[in-house]
Amino acid sequence: MFSNTSSLTECPFYIGGEWLQPKVAGTPVFNPSTGDTIAECPIGKAADVNAAVEAAAAAFPAWMETPPVERARILGRFKMLMEENIEDLVRSNTREHGKTLVESRGDVKRGMEVVEFALGVPSLLMGEVLENIARGIDCEAIRQPLGVCAGITPFNFPAMVPLWMYPIAIACGNTFVLKPSEKVPLTAIKIAKLLEKAGLPKGVLNIVHGGRDVVDALLTHPKVKAISFVGSTPIARYIYETGTKHGKRVQSNGGAKNYVILMPDADVENSTRGVIEAAFGCAGERCMAGSTAVVVGGAEKTVLPTLIEATKRIKVGPTDREAQPDMGAVITRQHRDRVLELIEAGVKEGAKIPADGRGVKVSEAPNGFYVGATILDHVQTGMTVAKEEIFGPVLNVMHMEDLDKAIELANKSFYGNGASIFTRSGKAAREFKHRVQCGMVGINIGVPASMAWFPFNGWNESFFGDLHMQGREGVQFFTQQKVTTSRWFSYGEGDIWHTEAKK
Ligand code: NAD
Repeated sequence: MFSNTSSLTECPFYIGGEWLQPKVAGTPVFNPSTGDTIAECPIGKAADVNAAVEAAAAAFPAWMETPPVERARILGRFKMLMEENIEDLVRSNTREHGKTLVESRGDVKRGMEVVEFALGVPSLLMGEVLENIARGIDCEAIRQPLGVCAGITPFNFPAMVPLWMYPIAIACGNTFVLKPSEKVPLTAIKIAKLLEKAGLPKGVLNIVHGGRDVVDALLTHPKVKAISFVGSTPIARYIYETGTKHGKRVQSNGGAKNYVILMPDADVENSTRGVIEAAFGCAGERCMAGSTAVVVGGAEKTVLPTLIEATKRIKVGPTDREAQPDMGAVITRQHRDRVLELIEAGVKEGAKIPADGRGVKVSEAPNGFYVGATILDHVQTGMTVAKEEIFGPVLNVMHMEDLDKAIELANKSFYGNGASIFTRSGKAAREFKHRVQCGMVGINIGVPASMAWFPFNGWNESFFGDLHMQGREGVQFFTQQKVTTSRWFSYGEGDIWHTEAKK
């Protein structure tokens, strides 16, 4: 069911409703499971961005005038087409990313939920009116689209992250230019083809591929009004600073390092399952990965030993075939080497390694980019692995004597995406929820990523901007308010049927 890797999959631009295969140098797109090159992603230039932005600008006036209910109907057909084609999307996602089929299904479905949310756009765009703000004077606030918006996305959720952005943007009446990650452009293309099939007018959605040149051209283009970005913190900060300097509205999600607090009273089986899923799901390549377990007091004698044994049993292997492993490869050879270097640094700086994934061998796919599930125990705050986002299947374990110290540790983090607690105590959970300094909190949930109806809510260096992606904040981000105050002095000449006008 997976397509043949002998010929390279095309990776076109989508500009003004045309699929264009540029003859320019590209960068390889890998199947991480095998290490094979499956496509070449063209590296665009400022001129390609200009063409895409001009196409989006030309499509904007008619799209803005399209009634919201008609825009929603196109998204409704898009959602149905995604459902009909879900297996194809899931396999494409797994092939270019390396995550398991179950994980890819989650990736696609979470994206589809944003489309479901955006279907409600006629209600979401309703404004506010107050009659008689003074005698005979009314005031109304409505929301209008911004114009051309752009999205720049990371490799780790090839389907979901682009779908965080453009369904809401276009539902609100904007047109859009997407630059997917050059490491995983293929699923984004397949999804855009379904939106085209659903009847989206030409130029409403455009896709350009590339790296920094393309991003810079989007950040500085005078016709781009807003930028949505998801990626690592240094680039997220750069996007925010450069975009806002050029007068654009920017929402910019960065990296993360999320703490999972294991209290001594935590249910051993459920918390082990929760931490395993949080740390090693998607091979740890998640901004909501629970990458540090903070073991409080007696939990080191209850949950921790079970967690170590469960980690050792995680089977890593190729995901591009029917027999599925527990965990797939990481995105590139270079990233695998970086994860291995960080594990080495952890060991060198004094961490113990009770589960060691460094030497993992996958005989059926020897050239895939594999790292086995790894636990670094007794990590200290000054260590490299405590400071850097590893973004691989590595769980740091830190030990704290009580909940206060565990919260204090989590609150020293530079990042602020998520944090979780596993406990049977309502009081401990309540204290944690109230005091922890991050935007998404889990209580007996390892990955508290918010779904489409809520904001994806990073704090600190995990987010730059004011309005988050998804939910009502997403609608606010992609619209601007217009407040009209009106007063009518007398009936006009046409109002002859009114008694007062006839006088
Ligand atoms: P990345 O920052 O390397 O790349 C993200 C995007 O930025 C890509 O489209 C890339 O082409 C572009 N880019 C890369 N370098 C650039 C540069 N110098 N100038 C301009 N553009 C540049 O991120 P990644 O490796 O693709 O993704 C992993 C990162 O994304 C992790 O840090 C992860 O935590 C983060 N992430 C965050 C969230 C969130 O919502 N907070 C969600 C998913 C991923």
